[in-house]
Amino acid sequence: MAVLTRRLLLGGLLGATALTASGASPRTPLPTFRPHVLACADWGADPPAEAPVLLPRRPKRIIVHHTATDNATDRSLDHARRLALFFQREHVRRGWGDTGQHFTSTRGGVLLEGRHGTLAVLDAGDRMVEGAHCVGQNRESIGIENEGLYTDRLPTAPQWAALVWLCARVCERYGIEPTGIDGHRDHWDGTVCPGDALHAGLPLLRAHVAALLEA
Ligand SMILES: [Zn+2]
Repeated sequence: MAVLTRRLLLGGLLGATALTASGASPRTPLPTFRPHVLACADWGADPPAEAPVLLPRRPKRIIVHHTATDNATDRSLDHARRLALFFQREHVRRGWGDTGQHFTSTRGGVLLEGRHGTLAVLDAGDRMVEGAHCVGQNRESIGIENEGLYTDRLPTAPQWAALVWLCARVCERYGIEPTGIDGHRDHWDGTVCPGDALHAGLPLLRAHVAALLEA
């Protein structure tokens, strides 16, 4: 985790204003940005309809999604909880056993565990929970849903920052290169997810994740 405690990345998004306001040198190390990931038990998830399936392997990649829901202006924790519960119940209704994706990132930058058990095995980095977010990739990838519709815009600044951090964390724990961050459409023809704009932003995302890992 050392590489993540000296972060740098989002200087342009989050740190620049603070540095300017304080008159600090641009070379002043930026504060660590380590968002808390709310575990299922923290955000009030229902028990999973089916027990999570633990796979004795590391995922090969990260798959980025958008939820294709409203670009909500409510950035609160309560909103994040309601959103996560909405998706869990919808995905269980579809027969997926639990929330389909491993993680959710809200427009307020709140990170939540999706599928039960994901966080419990992330630290050790040698097992993964089988997902239900991308046909053919559920045993190969970690799925991250980004709240919103990103056909013509990128995620909010806090959401982007949270996504970068989470991707870096997953890459670090599982030994995934930032080049292993793909969009849903890259693995399934039946979707335009994560939207044209976010898909076009994936090279930037990979670059930011690489910068954070190297910081
Ligand atoms: Zn998707």
